[in-house]
Amino acid sequence: MRCLSILSILAIVMTASAQTIDKQLYDAYDKYKESTIKDRRFKHAEIQPLIEKLKSDNQFKVEKLGESIEGRSISLISIGNGPTSVLLWSQMHGDEPTATMAIFDIINLFRSEDFGSFKSNLFDKLTIHFVPMLNPDGAEQYMRRNALGVDLNRDAERLQSEESKILKGIRDRTDADFGFNLHDQSRYYTVGYSRNPATISFLAPAYNYAKDINEVRGNAMKVIGKMNDVIQKYAPNQVGKYNDDFEPRAFGDNIQKWGTSTILIESGGYQNDREKQEIRKLNFMSILSALEVIADETYETENYSKYDAIPFNERQLFDLKISNLTYELGGNEYTVDVAINRFELEYNNHRNFFFYSSIQELGDLSIYYGFEELDATGMKYERGKVKEGAVAYADLEKLDFVGLLRQGITHVRVNDAPRSMRFTNYPIGVLRGSSSLNDRLSLGQHATFLLTKNGKPEMAVVNGFVVNLKTGETDLVNGMIR
Ligand SMILES: [Zn+2]
Repeated sequence: MRCLSILSILAIVMTASAQTIDKQLYDAYDKYKESTIKDRRFKHAEIQPLIEKLKSDNQFKVEKLGESIEGRSISLISIGNGPTSVLLWSQMHGDEPTATMAIFDIINLFRSEDFGSFKSNLFDKLTIHFVPMLNPDGAEQYMRRNALGVDLNRDAERLQSEESKILKGIRDRTDADFGFNLHDQSRYYTVGYSRNPATISFLAPAYNYAKDINEVRGNAMKVIGKMNDVIQKYAPNQVGKYNDDFEPRAFGDNIQKWGTSTILIESGGYQNDREKQEIRKLNFMSILSALEVIADETYETENYSKYDAIPFNERQLFDLKISNLTYELGGNEYTVDVAINRFELEYNNHRNFFFYSSIQELGDLSIYYGFEELDATGMKYERGKVKEGAVAYADLEKLDFVGLLRQGITHVRVNDAPRSMRFTNYPIGVLRGSSSLNDRLSLGQHATFLLTKNGKPEMAVVNGFVVNLKTGETDLVNGMIR
């Protein structure tokens, strides 16, 4: 811990009176960000030391609730002595880790010596229970389902999975007043029909098909209204509302029904944040702002209008949208828009990934948007050519890739590429053996092609990444070996 001079303490006190607590928390966040978790594909073994060390901190109570189907421990971390109990569970879906990261950041804040009065207020009024990574077997393989192949969020009634029994058990034992169901959603969801990604979406799940509002659900809606006020400051117009249809098998819906005011937080997409580190910070802010209004009961005077005003999620985004491209077929020219997504294919035991990009939509895409957009007015689609002759895998790095693309060559043939290699860091497509290129622009097609002007390549798209052939600039992460 850094020593603070009297002057800097005075400065902090003075700032505290001038700023709201959320602004101070937001500005101080980096200090609490758990440094051992840097990206999304962390595993159970990586969070265990973080849980273990809380056992020697007498603020916290740590309890093993049970084990996953494959025998990984699932822990409960509790703090506070207040009469209102709050239960938060994350990563019920193994490939939805953003809130797990945020939970450990919040725990670091709780362990620090900062924000004393803010925290003592929380701990006097609330008892806060965290269940981080409810589905460790899913997290191990970075997959949604558990080892049984079951979606835990469809097992709230039948309770066949150990993980489901654990969640039901702790909900019943704590008889939580408030519950936080922490998930990740598609990065392509938008706030209504706008171009803004639904970076955070909230929901007070329905507890019946009629979507009635009783006091339990109503309180969740009121808290969300308050959380939205805070998150709008840090991600303006990037908050959506998740689909509110009743799902009788889902945990959020049932926990609402069982009498716990339940709030769903979904972490979506954000420009230039594939690893969701900014979204992690927004989770930190969402949860802390909710805990504050629950502790102070300031949500009680809210009405439902703020909740109702949050636009529902739509899905209007792609990774790359190319507009007004000329496409020639059978001697005729057509104008089409092309939308491309970059999918993550895993290697290294689910720990790393590379991108594989393909065309996901084609035609008039004027209602859709891209995280990146390119206006191809005056440019024509060309498939590109394969370089004559084969290149040895070892010689690949010697090629002038931009030079080849400028000549209209989008692919090289490399017959001795090791079977295990599926991608390169070079802006070119690599073909193995006799594999060939598609003739037509079509859905599902691998996204490597040229955009030409007056017959000359002007831009290239290599594995879904744009290469500017005038300047040679590109944000390409990887090309494919196919
Ligand atoms: Zn989920």
